[in-house]
Amino acid sequence: MIRIVKPSGGPPELSRRGGQRIKEDCDSYIETGEDYRSGVKKFNFDSNIYGNSEVREQLLLAQHGKCCYCETKIRPAAHPNIEHYRPKGSVRQSKGCTKLYPGYYWLVYDWDNLLMCCPVCNTKKNDLFPLLDEDNRARSHEDPMECEQPMLVHPAIDDPNIHFHFSGSVIGHRTRQGKETIDCLDLNRDALRDKREGRLQQLCAFLCIVKMKDEMSNNGDFEDLVELANQEIRAAVSDQAEYSAFAKQLKEVRRTDWGTDDVAPVRPDSP
Ligand SMILES: [Zn+2]
Repeated sequence: MIRIVKPSGGPPELSRRGGQRIKEDCDSYIETGEDYRSGVKKFNFDSNIYGNSEVREQLLLAQHGKCCYCETKIRPAAHPNIEHYRPKGSVRQSKGCTKLYPGYYWLVYDWDNLLMCCPVCNTKKNDLFPLLDEDNRARSHEDPMECEQPMLVHPAIDDPNIHFHFSGSVIGHRTRQGKETIDCLDLNRDALRDKREGRLQQLCAFLCIVKMKDEMSNNGDFEDLVELANQEIRAAVSDQAEYSAFAKQLKEVRRTDWGTDDVAPVRPDSP
């Protein structure tokens, strides 16, 4: 996971049509809140508003075309999932917990609550939204949200470097939020581990070439190879690359100068 910088405000459609829909949904909740809380009545959210093309384009651009959580490239031909950080229809504290209805219906068209993720992360997270203390959960638009302490790292609000580190291809946690996020999204799932392992082997090969530079200094062809290896390493640690957070935290890369200034110093894991 890398830090995402979204443009402030978001597409005007969200505040224009989305704002109207939020007002209608809040009015409806005031009238028949009990039916919503029992799950008998459900909101009919409009994906044409929160998922319109401008929202998708702005999110994809801000996220460098990658899943906001696992950094897998989102295929342009695929229908990317709009992710509601605070889930919209229902919410659960953990995988074994009962669903609470409704979800955060008043944030469905809120730009700050929208991200884009891959289908796997979307399915894994589903309606999970753990809090440090569930008693502080806002259950309606009238409840304060300032007391909530989310345990899921928000890539556009939090600094992921504070919460995660890598050991080989395995992502580890530095904080309790990091641990909850890894568990919630299954960020050590086999498919991701395999992809990071493949990237690790590629990078190790390029790093080997660069290390041999001094021994082969009089060989013109080898200098071209070294330049190519440098380019590949620079590309792997750029925000545009898949799994760049992982590449930036490799010890061999950190000891060199491939633009890894934003990596937090290593700290011991918190329990
Ligand atoms: Zn993902």
